[in-house]
Amino acid sequence: MDFKQFNLHPKVQAGVEAVGYQVPTPIQLQAIPPVIAGQDVLGLAQTGTGKTAAFGLPLLHRLADGVRGQVRALVLAPTRELAEQINESLNALAQQTRLKSITVYGGVNINTQIKKLKEGADIVVACPGRLLDHISQGTVNLSKVEVLVLDEADQMFDMGFLPDVRKILRALPGKRQNLMFSATMPDDIRRLAHEILCRPVTVQVSRTAPAATVSHALYPVGQHLKTPLLFELLKHTDTESVLIFTKTKHRAKRVGEQLEKGGYKATSLQGNLSQNRRQAALDGFRDGTYQIMVATDIAARGIDVSLISHVINYDIPDTPEAYTHRIGRTGRAAKTGDAFTMVTGEDEAMVRSIERVLGAKIERRRVEGFDYTVPAPKKDAEFARAPREPQRKKQPAAAAQGKPGEAKSAQGTGRPAQPGNSRGPGASRGPGGSRQQAGARQGGSRPAGAGAGEGQRGGAQRPGNHAARRSGK
Ligand code: AMP
Repeated sequence: MDFKQFNLHPKVQAGVEAVGYQVPTPIQLQAIPPVIAGQDVLGLAQTGTGKTAAFGLPLLHRLADGVRGQVRALVLAPTRELAEQINESLNALAQQTRLKSITVYGGVNINTQIKKLKEGADIVVACPGRLLDHISQGTVNLSKVEVLVLDEADQMFDMGFLPDVRKILRALPGKRQNLMFSATMPDDIRRLAHEILCRPVTVQVSRTAPAATVSHALYPVGQHLKTPLLFELLKHTDTESVLIFTKTKHRAKRVGEQLEKGGYKATSLQGNLSQNRRQAALDGFRDGTYQIMVATDIAARGIDVSLISHVINYDIPDTPEAYTHRIGRTGRAAKTGDAFTMVTGEDEAMVRSIERVLGAKIERRRVEGFDYTVPAPKKDAEFARAPREPQRKKQPAAAAQGKPGEAKSAQGTGRPAQPGNSRGPGASRGPGGSRQQAGARQGGSRPAGAGAGEGQRGGAQRPGNHAARRSGK
């Protein structure tokens, strides 16, 4: 099966060939025909499944023969990094069509965007807040929009963007095609889908199974020994590029500093960084200046790194879905990757939830020669206990499953890698134990996703914050 079956516009088909896609992913197989047919589509899929091309190709097919320079398609994304990634993909696929996609998001100079909008764009990929600014200043004309795409609708909701989205909808022509993608389907998103979509075709790809190419391991350890154990793991592990997750911004910063002091090329990414510093950290990680990146879930959304060999959870995530998102950054596109998670006694319930989602027990490992008996410091030293600065509100226990209708926790979403990792699938990288075998490897043919950045207004956002800030409260 190849892309020719979709009978895409020849110039769009040429774009597919130029980027080297050969076989459509499951979400593409399901979504492209109804989108080409002009139907509204609700796609349940994470980033990493190929969903951008699933909506992007039919979108370009539709626009390919029309006028140029009018905004005929609007894609809304929750984060600027996701917006950039979508924009990049669309422009790559559109390279033969003379269609132009541009981004609109906050945290950067609005005048540059106004200039680009004036020069004419066919597709705008926007974060809601800044787009609203343009709407209210009259610097964007959305009256010709034929297709609306709401990407990562659940993240949009999590970040408090729904009121903005609703305002944007009012600025669009009533007659249009609507496509909505979401990794999960909580009640609010279901309601939004009912509001926006007209007799949608629902397409779905497995959303919780992590990449089959990732092996998982747990490292039980006392809270106060996490940093020494991290050093030990790094010392004995053949890592290329490591993404470390912490629960709080503060911890991300501190662990990053500790690693740097320990001689590692490490950087950290947290919500408090300016866009320039974020970008410098991301670029440095991408180009290998930094081998290690320490980040929180929210901050890590922008990470699109093709060669991540290891994800290390310094702190266990809040939900099994967040686990899937985190480890979605390694083992992408049929490459192998390792996901190490440090766990303390308090994490047992979450470990069980994650194992339920994986459908297998995760191997527990001990690092040979590491002194697990060092007692916790008497004084309440930093890292001696679980962090107290939660990134997001605590969810009730049931919500931790991320089931429809329940509030869900911070998660990264992400992008699978480009081809090119030289590692063979058999490479051994984990200290203190063998690589986990197929039993605990899960998943569909394409990896679960990772990566996208912060809301365009910067800073870790909680539901409601954004709206409150916009209204000056
Ligand atoms: P997405 O889920 O849209 O973020 O896509 C994930 C990654 O998969 C991107 O790097 C795409 O370039 C890539 N991709 C999407 N569709 C295909 C395909 N059919 N074959 C190979 N790679 C793909």
